[in-house]
Amino acid sequence: MNKSINDWIRPEIQQLSAYHVPDPGDTIKLDAMENPYQWDTALVEEWINVLRTAPLNRYPDPAAREVKQQLRAIMQVPDTMDMILGNGSDELIQMLALTLNGEGRILLAPEPSFVMYRLIAQVVGMQYIGVPLQADNFTLDMFAMLEAIETYQPALVFLAYPNNPTGNAFDVLDIEAIIETSHGIVVIDEAYAPFADNTFMSRLGEYPNLLVMRTVSKLGLAGLRLGLLAGPHEWLEQIEKTRLPYNINVLSQLSAIFALQHYTVLEKQTLQIRADRANLLERLNTIEGVQAWASQANFILFRVADAQAVFDELKNQGVLIKGLHGSHPLLDNCLRVTVGTPEENQAFLQALTQI
Ligand SMILES: *Cc1c(COP(=O)(O)O)cnc(C)c1O
Repeated sequence: MNKSINDWIRPEIQQLSAYHVPDPGDTIKLDAMENPYQWDTALVEEWINVLRTAPLNRYPDPAAREVKQQLRAIMQVPDTMDMILGNGSDELIQMLALTLNGEGRILLAPEPSFVMYRLIAQVVGMQYIGVPLQADNFTLDMFAMLEAIETYQPALVFLAYPNNPTGNAFDVLDIEAIIETSHGIVVIDEAYAPFADNTFMSRLGEYPNLLVMRTVSKLGLAGLRLGLLAGPHEWLEQIEKTRLPYNINVLSQLSAIFALQHYTVLEKQTLQIRADRANLLERLNTIEGVQAWASQANFILFRVADAQAVFDELKNQGVLIKGLHGSHPLLDNCLRVTVGTPEENQAFLQALTQI
């Protein structure tokens, strides 16, 4: 009987490196697209009072009906469409991959994009195909995309809209062509919808293979872990079978219901972040040696001469951002900064200017 790791752990798993999250210490944390604002004391008190009633001895509502109802209203999910909730949209990506997985099945995404598409494909044993975006403006390379879709016939295509880490929203006509060309499912991942001008949510039903994914993470509730998938009943009833029962726990459900009842607070913060994003971009581009790209998300991608040195020096000065150099050939010497409070943005800009 053989008891070695090499005999039992699939090579794809052995080759993976687990998703790495750096310890922020007490830096100004601008690395993870979090909303920088905390609730005021009165709101926190009110929330704690709600949690006091939490029946922790009972399983949660398995369908999380009340949370779904609120999300449907706030995110304008069409009445005719079904919804599935995930413990973050990461879990929804995993459910999609588990459902569509099979012999020779392929998951395709443009890249650079959200790293979880590749990671989850590898974990469940799907083949991952990444199609490079156009260098310099990060638009879809439509010739390459359509050719790859014809060649590989992916079961799943993920399009982050707007895209992470580039911040741009792909062209609507390009996305339509991808949906039309694909025989498999196309998931439009709208994690950054609160900061963007356009959405495919209202277009659900126009295409039989279109699904839309959202999350409350970038809206100001990253700690909750709550994402949603919306689309036609025929697909979602299949995907639902891979959802673990009670995946949205009692505390998350109660907290989400409470937070979404106070959605105007989050909405106001989002508008503030959008305004500060414009200011941050303008000022970034006035710094010599910095090239920053316009963004429809709550972060900005920029390029410098030596990204590692800039990253290290910013960290020395107490500002944590995300280094992307080495993660993809198109991201040479690139860094990504999350839009923080005006004070945090100022501290970041000041440190960067000095460097
Ligand atoms: C942050 C992010 C997510 C993850 O959302 P969670 O709901 O926090 O799991 C999904 N997609 C994209 C493109 C993201 O950037």
